[in-house]
Amino acid sequence: MSRAMTQRFSFSLAATDGRARTGTISTPRGDIRTPAFMPVGTAATVKAMMPESVAATGADILLGNTYHLMLRPTAERIDRLGGLHKFMNWDKPILTDSGGFQVMSLADLRKLTEKGVTFRSHIDGSKHELTPERSMEIQRLLGSDIVMAFDECPALPADRDRITESMRLSMRWAERSRDAFGDRPGHALFGIQQGGLEQDLRAESAEALTKIGFEGYAIGGLAVGEGQEAMFACLDYAPDQLPVDKPRYLMGVGKPDDIVGAVKRGVDMMDCVLPSRSGRTGQAWTHRGQVNIKNARHADDPRPLDETCSCPACSNYSRAYLHHVFRSGEMISGMLLTWHNLHYYQVIMQGMRDAIASGTFAAWESDFHAKRGEGDIEPI
Ligand SMILES: [Zn+2]
Repeated sequence: MSRAMTQRFSFSLAATDGRARTGTISTPRGDIRTPAFMPVGTAATVKAMMPESVAATGADILLGNTYHLMLRPTAERIDRLGGLHKFMNWDKPILTDSGGFQVMSLADLRKLTEKGVTFRSHIDGSKHELTPERSMEIQRLLGSDIVMAFDECPALPADRDRITESMRLSMRWAERSRDAFGDRPGHALFGIQQGGLEQDLRAESAEALTKIGFEGYAIGGLAVGEGQEAMFACLDYAPDQLPVDKPRYLMGVGKPDDIVGAVKRGVDMMDCVLPSRSGRTGQAWTHRGQVNIKNARHADDPRPLDETCSCPACSNYSRAYLHHVFRSGEMISGMLLTWHNLHYYQVIMQGMRDAIASGTFAAWESDFHAKRGEGDIEPI
């Protein structure tokens, strides 16, 4: 083990403004400035992006998916090739999910028992098993810096009995995840709060997790179809049920205004495929809202996508060009729009970090909403 790897995982809060927080997660692979947005590198790549480009957008950490990587190319193969960081040429921190959520959403013929989940691969139909112990083993083989406890998450709406039963199973799995994770200096294990939209079940879950003890805590089971209003209503209490001195991670969120609303309510970390996925379908996110580059109004427009943006797509290309390459099915279309979207997300995060540090979050937030309210620039 190198000397750098003996550094511990730690979190320090630098400032709070209302319920919003800014701070730093320190890991042997580098610091993560919070609130942090994590781009999603599902299959050991953030689609359409070179890893150095992802870093250039300002991302301190990215997310990898256990479910996808265990099926192809397999965790054992990645381990033999030196681990996920080396395999994908990303030397900053990586967080991996536990595989639980994606098994439930992607795999075929799932069977859930107290022990874990058996399922068939959506790729080739091969049979696999995921348990808390196997998920910890896979995430260790990948070399993940932040490991997520194995959990189960019911799709909403679900009835209270189903949510209760599922949350309590996830808490038993959280304990087994903690035991199986072992003592790994410099690496962190995060527990995942469940309980749907039920405040008392969320409280029970938070208490169970805190008793086990984790290096960080995720808010799971949101952004699964409940809508922004219901999600914010849950975030009005859920982050405060978790320990104040540990990072809080809201999984799978979201659109720019979801992210701002979550940070306002005390969330420190988020991830979402949205900026990269929408970049490949001609959708851009700017400080004035969403832009559909497919639209014919851009065909003769020499102006940049967002004149306030310093990303390569906005610095060097016109809306007319972005429209043309999208319509022509050129790969650079997805590359430029993904870069822009990821850059814009990081601009939001930096803006919020600065505003929280200077105690001006409320003013920053009203400016954010006011600009979006104006909508896209007038057509030429
Ligand atoms: Zn841009």
